[in-house]
Amino acid sequence: MSDVDRIRIYHHCPRCGSTSTEVRTSQLVVCHTCDLRLYYNPCAATAAILLDAHDRVLTVRRAKEPAKGMLAFPGGFVDDGESAEEGVRREVSEETGLKIGALEFLLSRPNTYPYRGIVYRTLDFFFVARVNDFGEARPLDGVAEIVTTPIDGLRLEDLAFVSMKAAWATFLERRRG
Ligand SMILES: [Zn+2]
Repeated sequence: MSDVDRIRIYHHCPRCGSTSTEVRTSQLVVCHTCDLRLYYNPCAATAAILLDAHDRVLTVRRAKEPAKGMLAFPGGFVDDGESAEEGVRREVSEETGLKIGALEFLLSRPNTYPYRGIVYRTLDFFFVARVNDFGEARPLDGVAEIVTTPIDGLRLEDLAFVSMKAAWATFLERRRG
């Protein structure tokens, strides 16, 4: 699905119902009847690289599409009104039950998230956080399994999204110094 095709799935203006709509850019639909300008800017999303005191890293095996069965750092879409930090704390709690302390911002990367026929464009914010004990983590919302591995044992090809692979590669580079 091309950038333009992904918003051509809307056949009518969502305000007036007119079919006289134009996909003007990859993120803008214009209605020529009521003059609506509807923007599809990237959605903000977050994820946390969680480390314990023994330099193990926690990932979740995704229970649902997209990327079902792949490993991911816990996270998800930021809700309306939330900061990225609030969003990642909430998502980590919802997916694993873990409460996390201080967050260190790592980087942001664009990503695509195909879901039920729409390819969402996201901007993913990655954080690093320490957790005292992974033993308290449980597979909750959208999680098939909690997976903990030594830092050197988590392979890029097992991670779900291009943004996530970039975050992990950067984390490893910085760690090596
Ligand atoms: Zn309209």
